[in-house]
Amino acid sequence: MQPSDLNKQAANYNVLAPGPVNLHPDVQKALALPMIHHRTPEFDAILKRVLNGLKKVFGTKQNCFLLSSTGSGGMEALLVNVLSPGDRVLAIDSGKFGERWAEMAKTYQAQVLVHKVPWGQAVNPADIEMLLQREKGIKLVLCQACETSTGVLHPIRELGALITKYNDTLFLVDGITALGALPLPMDEWKIDGLVGGSQKAFMLPTGLSLLSFSEKALRVVNSAQSPRFYFDIRKEIKANSNGETFFSSNVTLIRALDVVLRLMEGQGDSLYQEIAKRAQFTREYAPRMGFSKYTESPSPSLTALRVPDGIDSSQLRTKLEEKHRITIMGGQDQAKGKIIRIGHMGHITQEQMLQLMLALADTLRELGHDPKIDDVHFARSMKEFWETE
Ligand SMILES: *Cc1c(COP(=O)(O)O)cnc(C)c1O
Repeated sequence: MQPSDLNKQAANYNVLAPGPVNLHPDVQKALALPMIHHRTPEFDAILKRVLNGLKKVFGTKQNCFLLSSTGSGGMEALLVNVLSPGDRVLAIDSGKFGERWAEMAKTYQAQVLVHKVPWGQAVNPADIEMLLQREKGIKLVLCQACETSTGVLHPIRELGALITKYNDTLFLVDGITALGALPLPMDEWKIDGLVGGSQKAFMLPTGLSLLSFSEKALRVVNSAQSPRFYFDIRKEIKANSNGETFFSSNVTLIRALDVVLRLMEGQGDSLYQEIAKRAQFTREYAPRMGFSKYTESPSPSLTALRVPDGIDSSQLRTKLEEKHRITIMGGQDQAKGKIIRIGHMGHITQEQMLQLMLALADTLRELGHDPKIDDVHFARSMKEFWETE
C-alpha cells in the first residue's frame, strides 16, 4: 500500500462509537514509532512506569496487569483466576455484556444464577442484597459498571458496599466503558476484580485488557480450580515482579498507553468532567431533534437514545457513516433498529460533537423525518453551550 493511501484513509474520520474511539494525536505518534524489543532497558522503563501509573486510574494499592487480549479476555482472566467449577455465581445481566459474562462463567462450569435486569434499567442494590441473603454461598457477583449495549451506569459503589460484608463473596466489575472515563476507585468502592479495555475508555486501539485484583481476591487465586493457561495471573505476577510480562509484551500498545496515562495524569479529574460534559451536550441537543432518552440511569461514557418514530436506527447510522463519515452505533438484540449509541470516550473536539448533531439532523431529513430545527440557530446555541460553565 502506498503511503498516500494511508493518508487518505486517515482523513476526516470521526469515530463517536462507544469503542473504538478517536485517538489523540500524541497516541497516534507513539503508535507510529519504530519497533523496539521488549527485553530492552527502554521498554523496561516504560513497563514499570505504566504498571505503576495504572494503579492511580484503578484507585488501588494492588498491582495492575496488562494482557494482550481484547476486553473479553480480561473478563475471562478475572473469572478464571478466582473461580472453581461448581462455584455459585450471581451474574447481573442487564444487556449484551452481562449476558456474555454469565455465559463465560457457565463455560467454566460455575452454577450461575442470572439476575436479569430489564434493558435500559440499572440494577437495584436491594435486589442483590436480598439474593445474597436468600441464596447461600455465592462466591462471585458479576456486574458491568456501564452496560455498553444500553448505556446504563450501575450503582457500583453501593453494590461494593454491600457485597464486601460477605467474607466469601467477591465482586468482579467489567469497567471496560467506565474505567478511565469516570471515577471507579477500586479499593475505596470495594471492588475485588476490575477490568478495563484499551479501545474504550483507555483511548487506544483494540488489543489490551487491563486488570487488577483486590487483596481479598488474591487470596483465592491459588486455590481456584478453573483450568487456565494464557490467563493464569500467577505467571504474570511473577514476571511483573521481575519487570517483565510473561508472554511477549505488546510493546506498541503499552508504549501508547504510557502516553495516555501521561495525558490522564496531566488532565486529572477534568478528563472525567470533559467526558461528562459531552454526555450532557448530547442529552441536551439530540432531544431537540426528536431523539429521546433510553435510560434514566445514563453513563457519562456513552449516550443511548431512542430514535424518532418511523426511523430505523440501523439505517440512520449507516447513512451517517456513508455521507458524513461519522461512526456511531445502533442497538443490538431487542434494541436493534430502535436506538443509537453515541460514545463520549477518546479524543473528541467540541467541533466534532457539533458536527455530529448537524449530521444527525441532516440524516433524519434524508430519512423523511423533520427534525424541526433551524441549523444556523441550532449551531449557535450549541456553540454557546460550550462557553457556559
Ligand atoms: C466492549 C466491551 C466488552 C468487550 O470488549 P472486547 O474488547 O470487544 O472484547 C466487554 N464489556 C463491555 C462493557 C464493553 O463495552
